[in-house]
Amino acid sequence: MRVDILTLFPDMFRVTLGESMIGRAQENQIIDIQITNIRDYAENKHKQVDDYPYGGGAGMVMQPQPIFRALEAIKALDSRVIYMSPKGKTFDQRMAIELSKEERLVFLCGHYEGIDQRVIDHWVTDEISIGDYVLTGGELPAMVVIDAVARMIPGVLGQKESFMDESFYAGLLEYPQYTRPNEFQGLAVPDVLLSGNHKKIDEWRKEEALKITLKNRPDLFEKYIKEKELDKYEKKVIDRLLNDNTSK
Ligand code: SAM
Repeated sequence: MRVDILTLFPDMFRVTLGESMIGRAQENQIIDIQITNIRDYAENKHKQVDDYPYGGGAGMVMQPQPIFRALEAIKALDSRVIYMSPKGKTFDQRMAIELSKEERLVFLCGHYEGIDQRVIDHWVTDEISIGDYVLTGGELPAMVVIDAVARMIPGVLGQKESFMDESFYAGLLEYPQYTRPNEFQGLAVPDVLLSGNHKKIDEWRKEEALKITLKNRPDLFEKYIKEKELDKYEKKVIDRLLNDNTSK
């Protein structure tokens, strides 16, 4: 996948996207990330990229000219152009999976009070928010989305299983994880995980996933029990959890 990032702060990306899994994915040529400094395309003498909002109000707005030229220079016309924005659709795992199937993505990072609406009307195919809060710029949100999308591309994670069991992938939050030693400062790993009985381990994990989802994300739990075809074991556990919940 080719990923283009348009930003006023290119340095913010160098460490984050150069390390760990994304760094390796770039080395292995699974992802090619190119960063473009929008300021390089400002045609005025002082390389100014922002100006006062028409109609008045606080703050500055990013001008259309440098962004249009930058998007033209990277030939973004036939690509999905994603503007990171608190006004966008809230990002989730389903979107990460969907975006991971594209051959190219262009991320546009706003700053100040945001960007001139004409950029959005003319170029932007998707507006994505990472949550209901306002950050200073689109750089951190773009990194969040790129990280989540990249790990869905085949070959980026070690094995397919690494994300199939993870939170959100199958509609539930993930079960608790433990590693060695089996006892640490008197705190023991649940016996079932040391039993070698894979059926029992799978059942324990399913029950724990249901429990944590009901506790922390009742909205996801509701959706799961409504939409998923539940097997006998799941039905039994869910009845018990819901009973325990109402008797509390
Ligand atoms: N005035 C804008 C508003 O009220 O919607 C907020 C602008 S914000 C200070 C500056 C930039 O940060 C935005 O253009 C956007 O690129 C980015 N940004 C801020 N919060 C974000 C969020 N929750 N998700 C995605 N991008 C965000």
